[in-house]
Amino acid sequence: MTTHSHAILNMALLSKRDKPFLHVYAFIGAVLPDLPIFVFFIIESVIRKTPERELWGTLYFTESWQNFFDIFNAIPFILILLGLGYYLLNSERVTVLAWSLLIHCGFDFLTHHDDGHHHFFPLSDFVFESPISYWDRNHHAGIFAPIARVVFLIASIYLYRRLKTRLARWCLIAVNILFVASYLLFFLNN
Ligand SMILES: [Zn+2]
Repeated sequence: MTTHSHAILNMALLSKRDKPFLHVYAFIGAVLPDLPIFVFFIIESVIRKTPERELWGTLYFTESWQNFFDIFNAIPFILILLGLGYYLLNSERVTVLAWSLLIHCGFDFLTHHDDGHHHFFPLSDFVFESPISYWDRNHHAGIFAPIARVVFLIASIYLYRRLKTRLARWCLIAVNILFVASYLLFFLNN
């Protein structure tokens, strides 16, 4: 799923009343698995000026880049972090961070058809082909996308009341406006 939908859903799911300081850890866990893609794009496209076709056609699939992406989407590593946070460090912050990473991987597992991650890296290179894709109309995105947007809107309304700073609330509103606009542009034009 898109990075902003992960952020909204994970923060809403992991939010605890009277513990707004945990929101930032849920946020980091929600965006971290997608961060290497941005690093890839900045290094290869912005700095090295690789042509777009080569970027997503071949370079994206090279082993070194794939391993780099996989590290941040690897459920075995996340489970180790969860165990460390919960049992060893007894840290609610680390535990929420690990849960958020895990939820991100769970949603991606269910919403990627032929562009899924190696979620069991480094133990296995199995990739699950979900029958549902969050963006590909050939795999039910036409039904999934509008339902997902309604869910995100409900999650946003729920989260809004729990956000403590004005900046966070404005960010949430801005993301929702962009989200609806991108939906209208992308899906209704196709
Ligand atoms: Zn992801």
